[in-house]
Amino acid sequence: MKLTFWGTRGSIPAPGPDTVRVGGNTTCLELTGSEKSRIIIDAGTGIRNLGASIIKEKNPGKIHLLLTHSHWDHLAGYTFFAPAFNPEYSIVTYGKKLAQEVLKRDIYERYDNRYSPVNLNNLKAEIKFNKTLPDNLVLDGINITNINLNHPGNGYGYKFEENGKKIAFITDNELGLQYNSGNSPSEIKKFCKGVDVLIHDAQFLPSEIEDHISWGHSTYKEVIDLASIVGIPYILLTHHAPERTDDECDAIINEANRYIKEKGSQIKCELAIEGNSVEV
Ligand SMILES: [Zn+2]
Ligand SMILES: [Zn+2]
Repeated sequence: MKLTFWGTRGSIPAPGPDTVRVGGNTTCLELTGSEKSRIIIDAGTGIRNLGASIIKEKNPGKIHLLLTHSHWDHLAGYTFFAPAFNPEYSIVTYGKKLAQEVLKRDIYERYDNRYSPVNLNNLKAEIKFNKTLPDNLVLDGINITNINLNHPGNGYGYKFEENGKKIAFITDNELGLQYNSGNSPSEIKKFCKGVDVLIHDAQFLPSEIEDHISWGHSTYKEVIDLASIVGIPYILLTHHAPERTDDECDAIINEANRYIKEKGSQIKCELAIEGNSVEV
């Protein structure tokens, strides 16, 4: 499986000279497996560039869109996704009921000239919204399981498995706090055990987290602690704070690697960077 990052910024796009290396687009990832499937995770602003790349491939067909949750930074790019305007594509959406409802009601059905020069008549693709997400979903040979996260308004983390390899993608999750709707730390650990790679939210610094309890995000230390407890060899930090510059992101990785060394651990830790891929 190959996971490509089209957007890794949290909360709001952050373009500009200070974020050019890590990237300014909000969450959007593309997963391909051995069947050359087209699975997209989240429709943040990174989906615009992904859509252009899909059109360039000239290989129309079905696109699966998995949503983590309904926050704007994860849906805001949907109306700029070029395959939605093309009758040769079909887009099937999966995710939490709320995320689907928000996407359908607040974005898709408001696709009219009050907000934009194009309207629903311009959307030529076949577009489907699923009401539920099965516990065990298989898309083009990739097995997908999910877990309820600890985040305001809820959210799903996903685990992808093919040919014995496993990738977990968990963004917008507060490792330091359990919400009524979320899973306990031990359930999150169980879900992550055995994965080859974990991509996890690390929006806040350890020095910032105390002022942001219940905002639904984590720190690099919490992600490293989780990975070392369950034995995950490779982690990538994502959902970078919008104000975080490239140099500050580099500093986080240096700090993270110092912390890993202090723990006597061998975990490989990197930033999830727009345009990069991870392969297992
Ligand atoms: Zn977010
Ligand atoms: Zn969120």
